[in-house]
This record gives sequence, structure tokens and C-alpha cells, in this order.
Amino acid sequence: MRVALAGLFHESNTFNPLLTQYEDYQTTRLLRGEEIPAVMADTDSEVAGFLTGSFESVPVSVAWTWPLGPLTRDCFERVLGDLLDGLRARGPYDGVLLSLHGAMVAEGVPDADAQILAAVREVIGGIPLIATFDLHANLHPRMAALADALIGYRTYPHVDLRARGVEAARLMERTLSGAVRPVCAIAKPPLMPHIMTMLTASGPAAEVLAVADQERAERALLSTSVAFGFAYADLPHLGLATVAVANGSRAAAQEAADAIAAAAWERRPRFWLDLPTPAEAVAQALAAPSGPVVLADIGDNVGGGTPGDGTFLLQELIAQRAREAVLLLADPQAVEACVRAGVGRSLDLPVGGRRDTLHGAPVALTGRVKALTDGVFRNRGPMRDGLVDDQGTTAVLACDIGHLVLTSRRMPSWNLEQLRAVGLEPTRQRILVCKGALAHRAAYQPIATAMIDVDTPGVTPADYRRFTYQHARRPLWRLDEQATWPLPGGAA
Ligand SMILES: [Zn+2]
Repeated sequence: MRVALAGLFHESNTFNPLLTQYEDYQTTRLLRGEEIPAVMADTDSEVAGFLTGSFESVPVSVAWTWPLGPLTRDCFERVLGDLLDGLRARGPYDGVLLSLHGAMVAEGVPDADAQILAAVREVIGGIPLIATFDLHANLHPRMAALADALIGYRTYPHVDLRARGVEAARLMERTLSGAVRPVCAIAKPPLMPHIMTMLTASGPAAEVLAVADQERAERALLSTSVAFGFAYADLPHLGLATVAVANGSRAAAQEAADAIAAAAWERRPRFWLDLPTPAEAVAQALAAPSGPVVLADIGDNVGGGTPGDGTFLLQELIAQRAREAVLLLADPQAVEACVRAGVGRSLDLPVGGRRDTLHGAPVALTGRVKALTDGVFRNRGPMRDGLVDDQGTTAVLACDIGHLVLTSRRMPSWNLEQLRAVGLEPTRQRILVCKGALAHRAAYQPIATAMIDVDTPGVTPADYRRFTYQHARRPLWRLDEQATWPLPGGAA
């Protein structure tokens, strides 16, 4: 049995004016054929899980890059074209395993993941097609009919990518042997949870996932998943979706998906949180008896597609005279200024706030260049273990509040090696600012004395009601308190 393996992945923030280009994939991860197992077999990735299947794996293509604005039309056509050309060149197959995000948007293509599935389906015909998706997917309902099965992450922070790939491979084995015939259903209650309530270790998201497990066991289903949605995308299919995969019966799958959706809908008051302002959060951090205290700059969540140069917390740390703080900023111009000055030299420079006007103004400060590095580090620990990341030429600037780590490329705060590689020991700092919502917790919570989540403005604000939505279906909780479900007429 020959099974094609591929990945085409993006989380697209439609409020971010910076569009994703083909070059973004080229400089991050664009792999073909045998490059795929060589680079990915030992990583925590869906593809690594796919590769464990007891069938002949035919690696086709993998395209992955960091969240940002939607893909340009050209970029979408090229990455999809790479996938389809690769599929045509290496076939025929008995099945296809595909790693998607589920929140990809391209110019003029609001439902890019559904379009990918449709295009792949056209090439491969009726053979089994199983796709994985991210917990933050905005699944389009028609994806249920295009794939035989959809399997989502069960963790946030995401630490089960390989495990979900293995689950998909096992289901493919059982499907190819004729033991099962998967059919998939999706339910979409009009609900967009607050991102900070999606933590899967405890709370309402954990409870809904437990209901999904229970439904799977009680109804003897093949798989159940929940996509909690990605609020920073103005789309008709914005919001939470539940997925069930049954053996042969679409009605059984739909019943289970509806039951899991009801469990999410009932809990909607708990899918919301109100968070401190930057001034309140910095005051709380300074009052803590010991460090490191981790401040989450949620509005500038690089993992959600932001510039990574937001200065709201930097301004507040300076105003409240913080010490021994570490803050990362993606600012190639500031890095260049530090390179020109050289290690050991002091300089006056503006930092941050350059990419747009949504994440705070540039901050003028004086600092001493403590180190210059190539910005390459190998991740260790729970997230991205083994993967090598490159944040470009990086400068460590010592200043009154502590240290700024100025990078040439945007990089989320997902791994402690990011700081250790530039000579900063995170456990010895008083305040660490992470540009993210929850993903950084996998690395940072174990070393932190306190985690403070901050309601900073930006293109990924905790309170998404700051945005004006034009395309999202309405009413949608919590844009609209009066949203009801099931919808009149029984539509899902
Ligand atoms: Zn995610």
C-alpha cells in the first residue's frame, strides 16, 4: 500500500496588513520528496507521525511558515501547485495523509483549507484522504465531505503534533485494510472562545475535550476533535467547530459532533476572561516577591501573526522603572544599528513599533551592545523539540530595565533556548516578556513564579471585540450576547 504524505500549513490573520509571500515559505520550511523524512522524521510534527505508518510512505511536499496576514494569491497558487504537481508526479496511491492548519486564508480565498482538500480530491479521486488540523482552526463545514477523516490537536500549548500524525497513520492503516470506513461530520455552534480560555490542561476547553473523549468511547467512534477557532480572521466560518469520525454512518458522526458542540455552547460564559492592562500587569510583576514573573504580551502574539515589535509593555516597564527584565523585539533596523556600533559599545537608538501603527510607537533608549549572534538555536523541551530555528542576526542590548533581545526575524517565545543561545539565562531574570498568548507556557510556566496575561492592543488582542468584523457570521458569541443555538431551521 502506498500512502502520499504532505503538509500545507498557515494560520492567517486577516487583520494583519502584512501578507504572506512564497519567500516566507522558502525561508522557513519548503521541502520536497526525500528531504521530508531527512528533516522531519525526528521532530514533533504531524509528518513525523505519518512516517510511522506500516505502509509505503511517499513523501510529497511540506510547506510551513509562521502566522502572518493572508497568503498572496500568487503564494497560494504556488504552494498548492507544488503539492498538486508533487502528487501527480509520484502517484498512484492507495491513500493520502495531509497536515493542514485549518485557518489558512489567501487573497480572494477565505476557505483556503477547504480549497486545498477539494484540489487534492480532484487529483486523487475517491481514495482515503485523512487530514490533521490545529486546535485554532476555523474549520469550514464543507471540509467534512471533502476528507474521509479530520483529526485535530488536543493540546494548547501544542505538544501533540506527532501523536496526532500517528493517530492519522493508524486510522489510514485500518481504512486501507478494510477494517473501517471513516466518515466525518462537523458542527459549528456560533461561538468564538476567548483565546486565554483554550488552555487544555484544565478549564472549559479541557472539559469539552473530555466530552469528546466520552462521545468517542460511548458511540464507538473512530475519532473526535474540537477546533476552538482563530478569532483574528474575519470569515463567515469564524469560530469553534467540533468534529466526529464514525465508522460508516454520517448520521452517527453528526449526532456526536452536535453533542460535543452542545457541551461547548453550554459552557460559553466560561469561554471568556477579562485581563489586566499593561500598567496594572507591570505593577503586579514589580510587586512579586521573586522572579521570574512572565508577562504575556497577547496583542503582539508572534505565533498568531503579529510583527513582534510591539512596545506597549516596554513603555510601561520603563515608566515603572523595572529592573532585570528581558524583552524580545523583532527589529532589523535596531539590530543593524547595534552591528554598526559593535559589541561593548553604547548607543542611543529607537527600538520597536516600526512595522505598523497598531503595536505602540518606537521607544528611544540608550543601551550597550552586550552580544551579537547569528540567531540560530536548536529547540529543546516540550515544544518544537529538535527543530532548528533562525531568528536572523540578533543583538543583546543591556539597558536600564535589563536586556532587550533584538532579532532580525520574528520568532515567538516558545523555547528557553532562544534566550540561552544569546547568553541570557531565563531562570535568573526578574521579568520575562513573552510575545504570545498561551503557547509560551509550555516552556516558561515551569520556571516562572507567576504568569501574568496582559490585555495589550495589537492584531491579536485578547479581547477580539476590539475589531470590526464585516464577514463573520452573526450573531456570534461573544460579539453578540444574544446569539442562540441550535440555529432556527436546524442548520448547523
Ligand atoms: Zn494553534
